[in-house]
Amino acid sequence: MLYPPFSSKQRILAQKSSKLTKKTIRWLVALSSIPLFGIVTAFGIAPNTPSFEEILVEEVVLDLSLPDVIYETQANQTFWHQENIRRGDTIATILTRLDVNNQDSTDFLQAARDSRAMRQLKPGKTIYAQTNADGELLTLRYFYGNEELFLMEKTDDAFKMTEQPIELDSQIHMKAGEIISSLFAATDSAGIPNNIATQLTEIFASEIDFYRDLRRGDRFTVVYETSSDNGTRTKKGRVLAVEFVNKGKSHQAVYFKASNGADGYYTPEGESLRKDFLLSPLTFSRISSGFSNARYHPILKEWRAHRGIDYAAPTGTPVKATANGIVAFSGSQRGYGNLVVLKHNGKFETAYGHLSRFASGMSKGKRVNQGDVIGYVGSTGMATGPHLHYELRVDGLQRDPTKVALPSAPPITKRDLNTFHKETQSLVARLNIMRNIHYAALE
Ligand SMILES: [Zn+2]
Repeated sequence: MLYPPFSSKQRILAQKSSKLTKKTIRWLVALSSIPLFGIVTAFGIAPNTPSFEEILVEEVVLDLSLPDVIYETQANQTFWHQENIRRGDTIATILTRLDVNNQDSTDFLQAARDSRAMRQLKPGKTIYAQTNADGELLTLRYFYGNEELFLMEKTDDAFKMTEQPIELDSQIHMKAGEIISSLFAATDSAGIPNNIATQLTEIFASEIDFYRDLRRGDRFTVVYETSSDNGTRTKKGRVLAVEFVNKGKSHQAVYFKASNGADGYYTPEGESLRKDFLLSPLTFSRISSGFSNARYHPILKEWRAHRGIDYAAPTGTPVKATANGIVAFSGSQRGYGNLVVLKHNGKFETAYGHLSRFASGMSKGKRVNQGDVIGYVGSTGMATGPHLHYELRVDGLQRDPTKVALPSAPPITKRDLNTFHKETQSLVARLNIMRNIHYAALE
């Protein structure tokens, strides 16, 4: 398959620098965002180019007066191809699909026999190659491992190869919003990407029950980083710091990578936000993100009489294990209907009732991990409508999960604490500034 948007840009990259520096990538990213000038010159386009618009990226290069590259491209008619690695692929089979001729294919295999990257052909990943009309292999690039780039450029009939980590151009964003109809409506209107919004709910999954506790007027500020990978054009994002004010209570989290390489989210004081238990057994998603719908809401009962939490949700909604554990019971039990009971470390048990059906293999003794689907919401047993009845039991007694101190991952180590504060204090300051601005705006 042809992939025109890389063509000239990649040639420039190959000529100007064999090492991808941050600066180079920024520059390339900048190129692609410069408005087009309406000149359309079709060079290097194969007959089966899927869309003519895609080639326009090359015009940007033209206007930046880099004639050598352009003329060369025009004269040699080079083509960019991309191929996804399939299960069972060898470099040879991929080169064939990339339309590389036999001679270059043989030479490349010989030249690349010691390459680390070429031994890591992961199905689903993509290899990009530039050839000319004769199937001569000019450039080959492959992002392997953890954002490392394998780059081969043919110069004077020799294959020159490099393998190096690629630095991504990254940008920091800070966005804030207030919930009026749903969390995702608020993140959408603040222009926060979907994966960042989802991360936000995951970071606080043991702190805030997004399924039940969201309120109109809840507010959030999120500082996140996005990076554009120039090779695959995917956008990655990571929350660096976030504050969520839920029912008037502020929850803050900052991202930190410890000296031993482990990373995660912590309170500004350095306590881990990763707990052994999720608060909610239901996945909070775009679909489920509205406020509770009265039609689905069962009769609310006093905690004292009820000893569980009811989650109103449509029949068939997946139910997740809130913590790692072992299936202690899976079957029908009086008022509970279809019930799963999980036994966790120490004194904890969780129970999930009124299920319409069980996930496959939910037999006694089966080990489950936090987040695994164990069954689906239903209205079996004594249920007034489809909902999940969830219980946390401590030493056999039902307890309110929001009032029990649940075990969490270890805090920042003493050794890392100074670094942690140094790295995160400016992020926390940003959160606080945003909150104050927000308050001021509301007054
Ligand atoms: Zn219930």
